[in-house]
Amino acid sequence: MTVVGAGPTGTETAAELAEQGRSVTLVCGGVLGPYLHRWGRRSVAGRLAALGVRVVEGADARVTAVTRDAVRLADGRELPSAVPLWTAGFGVPDLAARSGLSVDALGRLLTDETLTSVDDERVVAAGDSAAPSGLPLRMSCQAAMPLGARAADTVLSRLAGERPETLNQSFGAQCISLGRSAGVFQFGNRSDVAVWLHIGGRLGARMKETGRTGIVKHLADEAHQPGGYGLHRMKGGAGRKKALEAPRVEAPAAAERVS
Ligand SMILES: Cc1cc2nc3c(=O)[nH]c(=O)nc-3n(C[C@H](O)[C@H](O)[C@H](O)COP(=O)(O)OP(=O)(O)OC[C@H]3O[C@@H](n4cnc5c(N)ncnc54)[C@H](O)[C@@H]3O)c2cc1C
Repeated sequence: MTVVGAGPTGTETAAELAEQGRSVTLVCGGVLGPYLHRWGRRSVAGRLAALGVRVVEGADARVTAVTRDAVRLADGRELPSAVPLWTAGFGVPDLAARSGLSVDALGRLLTDETLTSVDDERVVAAGDSAAPSGLPLRMSCQAAMPLGARAADTVLSRLAGERPETLNQSFGAQCISLGRSAGVFQFGNRSDVAVWLHIGGRLGARMKETGRTGIVKHLADEAHQPGGYGLHRMKGGAGRKKALEAPRVEAPAAAERVS
């Protein structure tokens, strides 16, 4: 089997399949785990090697074609593969673009820092499909949950005739499970750049699992006590403020108006 794409989805898929005894090739299209710090990456590579996953890295490891029984790479190599699995990133529904609202190059709705559309204050966006200030956050539930709460607060503030608050988003980590009993918990800084610190092995897997169960708990708590969720109100987001203030070479140039 060939897994195409070595972000968290492809890496997790490759590890799970290998653990079930399948012969797996992971085609990275660049580096393994683009977000990871090189030490975290080394830890992931070690675990994949132990599971017998063949990792194909490098600029030439981009898949240019998928045929019935192989995947073809940019350098012309063909990797025999009965089952290619495509995990080369997820996209955004085209609803915002089709609506004629301003979107970025990926089709995410352009908003201000209150998550309100730059074109129409009756439209609010959150999650993977939002690009606040043209500086979208990493597509993740880590961002989607506080963004959802922020969007709800924005709507409530507008209904109350109050000025909505702005984003206050910080990231902490990226976690990837590597089969049933191992994982890596890669810490990041406030600008969402991976740092040297990561936790691997069984503890890494346990930390990822804690994050997953935490999401369900957040939802249950919110159902019992609406408005109780407060991660979006926590102090932080200094990295984002700095990025917003920094001169941007390409900022709204990446954005386009779809008519
Ligand atoms: C395999 C996998 C593993 C992941 N693991 C992690 C992880 O460990 N940690 C992490 O932080 N993130 C993880 N993510 C990312 C995370 O799941 C997403 O970033 C998050 O779900 C984004 O939330 P969202 O609500 O913006 O979008 P989604 O969860 O994609 O929800 C969008 C919803 O909108 C609906 N929809 C779309 N178009 C329309 C329409 N026209 N009308 C009505 N409804 C519509 C869709 O059906 C869907 O229900 C993972 C993603 C994948 C694919």
